[in-house]
Amino acid sequence: MMLTALKPQPADKILALMAAFREDARSDKIDLGVGVYKDAEGRTPVMRAVKAAEKRLWEIEETKSYTALTGDPAYGAALTQLILGDTVPDDRIACAATPGGTGAFRQGMELVRMAAPDARVWVSDPTWPNHLSILRHLGIPFTEYRYFDSATCDVDFDGMMADLDRVAEGDVVLLHGCCHNPTGANLTEAQWRQVADLLVRKGAVPFIDLAYQGFGDGLEADAQGTRIVARACREVLIGASCSKNFGIYRERAGLLIALAPDAASTRLAQGTLAYLNRQNFSFPPDHGARLVTMILTDDALRAAWQAEVEDIRRGLLTLREQLADELRRQSNSDRFDFIARHRGMFSRLGASPEQVEAMRRDHGIYMVGDSRINVAGLNARTVPLLARAMVAAGV
Ligand code: PMP
Repeated sequence: MMLTALKPQPADKILALMAAFREDARSDKIDLGVGVYKDAEGRTPVMRAVKAAEKRLWEIEETKSYTALTGDPAYGAALTQLILGDTVPDDRIACAATPGGTGAFRQGMELVRMAAPDARVWVSDPTWPNHLSILRHLGIPFTEYRYFDSATCDVDFDGMMADLDRVAEGDVVLLHGCCHNPTGANLTEAQWRQVADLLVRKGAVPFIDLAYQGFGDGLEADAQGTRIVARACREVLIGASCSKNFGIYRERAGLLIALAPDAASTRLAQGTLAYLNRQNFSFPPDHGARLVTMILTDDALRAAWQAEVEDIRRGLLTLREQLADELRRQSNSDRFDFIARHRGMFSRLGASPEQVEAMRRDHGIYMVGDSRINVAGLNARTVPLLARAMVAAGV
């Protein structure tokens, strides 16, 4: 028997939290759990530029026949340009469309396992839980490096550099390009340069997970860390997601980029990316990727999209400032000012599991057990409620 031999898999914590939220009968409950952007009314709308591109696509699309194993080359070119600008010459860039950023990470790690079976992957403590579960599933050994300082809620950069000093040649160092998930704490440009120097010195290969470009300090600023590393290192892997910054979560648009040292190894990498897509799912999804290409290559659509991303980014920053202000008032201290310094959709508040549970039980406020909040789940009305709950729970 086969199916009867299966073992139950652990439930996804965030999905379980969503279910608990749905079952909560309180009308004033607040969902700060799942990682999708929400506007002030709590909706996750289709972006206007995406709607416009979909309408145009419906008019001009003549076939839905297969594209290429690595997706439409125009998608790879457009998204690579958004991420890297002119940092790296074309003959060093291999890339493949993947089902979302998750697919990019999965394909990237499969490539690592093929090319360097002994490589260890270094991951920030904490990181996006799917990173760890995919590494475990693939049987790739990994080690955590210090990243989040729970006393300051900023990056523990000295700890990070000390831990990464133990990286062996050929190991992979996983970095979040911007808007670190789950903490919201990010490297400065000067720190990115130090990390890039370390990677070069160690002969390590960075994998940069870029899932929130445009949600932190802006589309260009959020790519700076990735570009610094891309300029410095001979080999770089980048997993990009269009789920958040184009709001096309369910379309599954991601891209795995491999920067190789020369044209011959770029061709080898490109062939391997096509091979890996073929083995796992054959052709990648195209609809979302096509919308992204249309938006990025059309001046008017691109300007409209950039304005929408900028609105989202400013909205997140405003909520951060409001929450930090409110907490300063209610707690009579500046110990929560880090919330305004964090960037992206998430912040780890530094609450204990008991405090997280108390906020859920007593105030109907749902956040992930490690006290990660989705800032986009707040609005001007609920900011003071969260602040009050935090102070009451003794955070
Ligand atoms: N990396 C990180 C750090 C993320 O937070 C996410 C989204 N939760 C992803 C990758 C991938 O998202 P998706 O597969 O939906 O594009």
